[in-house]
Amino acid sequence: MLTDTHCHLDQVEDPEAAIAQACAAGVGRIVAVSEGPETIDRVMALARSHPGVVLAGIGLHPVPLASLSDEEADRALAAVERLLPEADVLGEVGLDHKVAVTPEEKARQRTFLDRLFALAAAARKPANLHSRRAERAALEAATLFHRQTGLGAQMHWFTHSAKLVRIANEAGNYVSVGPSAIGSAEVARVVLAIAPELLLLETDTPVPIGRVPNSPARAAEVAREVARIKGWSLDELERRTEENFARFLFAKNVAWE
Ligand SMILES: [Zn+2]
Repeated sequence: MLTDTHCHLDQVEDPEAAIAQACAAGVGRIVAVSEGPETIDRVMALARSHPGVVLAGIGLHPVPLASLSDEEADRALAAVERLLPEADVLGEVGLDHKVAVTPEEKARQRTFLDRLFALAAAARKPANLHSRRAERAALEAATLFHRQTGLGAQMHWFTHSAKLVRIANEAGNYVSVGPSAIGSAEVARVVLAIAPELLLLETDTPVPIGRVPNSPARAAEVAREVARIKGWSLDELERRTEENFARFLFAKNVAWE
């Protein structure tokens, strides 16, 4: 069994069909991440109706945050605080310097990220992080969260720089690989740098890769490609990534059923 550890399942046209297709492809677990007030309830509903298959990521993404007033963002955080104990992961949260350009905008993003981290720390949930044009800053924030809480931090789609991946390895942060790894020598070099015990799979559905529509079932394709890059059998890839995901979720080694 494989896990798609970062999927916007609430944004696909037919989530039920996507779940069935994923399970048939061997992707038996999907982390559905939310982006903000509207998506939180849809993600929770999907997780509640597919226990053990759809895991809930509850968070406030830095892009929607940019268009919320402070009052609206406070209300979104209150919803995150209320739902996190029932959810599995804090996410999608992070830093995005494409939408935050001025020092004030960047500082606001960071303030809200720290408040979200505090909620995750209180609920004992790991964090799933977005980083665009802010890879180093997001990695540093994730490292601090992990050090201070002992909880897992996952850098999603963090396959732009082998150098940053090595820093993530040293800090003990997880890195998830998506369909951009398929057929890309450049991404393959970064995948090679990810420590075997920190590697996770994802799709970031529905974000399309090239012209191919994305779906959680594609985590199986990502798995085959990553196994090839790492020189592992598919069984070994599966065993390692599932052990990693269990450790990420529970911040310790557990038998995962
Ligand atoms: Zn995402």
